[in-house]
Amino acid sequence: MNNKPRQTLVEGLIDHLRFQRECGDVTVELEPETVAALAACKKKPRTSPPAGKPRADGSATAAPVAPAPGRKPAAAAAALAEIAAAAAACRKCALCRERTTVVPGQGNASSPDVLFIGEAPGAEEDRQGLAFVGRAGQLLTKMIGAMGYTRDEIFIANICKCRPPNNRQPAVDEMAACLPFLKAQIAVIRPRVIVAMGNTAILGLLGSSGITRLRGIWSMFEGIPLMPTYHPAYLLRFPSVKREAWDDLKKVLKRLDRPVPAPDAKTGGEGSAP
Ligand code: SF4
Repeated sequence: MNNKPRQTLVEGLIDHLRFQRECGDVTVELEPETVAALAACKKKPRTSPPAGKPRADGSATAAPVAPAPGRKPAAAAAALAEIAAAAAACRKCALCRERTTVVPGQGNASSPDVLFIGEAPGAEEDRQGLAFVGRAGQLLTKMIGAMGYTRDEIFIANICKCRPPNNRQPAVDEMAACLPFLKAQIAVIRPRVIVAMGNTAILGLLGSSGITRLRGIWSMFEGIPLMPTYHPAYLLRFPSVKREAWDDLKKVLKRLDRPVPAPDAKTGGEGSAP
């Protein structure tokens, strides 16, 4: 193995160990060669500023993203297209009967910093075949922008790929039937962090509900740190909890070593909620 892939691998390992430590796993057994490789990597001078630290011109660098092992962007996009095609042909649950279009999700397929997961498509999503394009989607776009990203830089998906009639909540068996598609997407995308939005997403991913109890507390799904927070549709109905949702997203930024937006000049507080 030449030096560059080796260093990338070691940096990915450091990133992973940092996540483990934050999750409370403070004891890790390492082979002596691994310790030596980590030490050698640590001594190597960086050619660019560390993540989140300002460059000479004052701008911030992007956080290092652990690459999807052996998966190039084109290969990841092709793998996701296969999953989307399988979902389009799927008739595993009752939601297939009234859908217009299957909504697999969209965005950066190659190790994005964040994968946002919601409940299920609504009317507009069902019509366009895209996730989060209605009113809640507009608010999500603002939240993503406030975090310093564009929608193309992250990935957005839902627990269920088909719209429930009359926008009802998906049933537990419908979520279970659809979950393999989402898991397959996660295996391809390998996001650094998952943000689960709303009670249904949390129930589908973690098997427990209670958004007010669980939001803001790190969990894990498929080996990836998961932050539960409110669904944008809930924030539209109850704007008073936007501040709490923003606090959750700031925790995500901190975990990604991304800069948290500067204090709002008008409020004098930390970055204002979108
Ligand atoms: S919601 Fe998921 S499991 Fe149900 S029919 Fe659609 S793609 Fe298949």
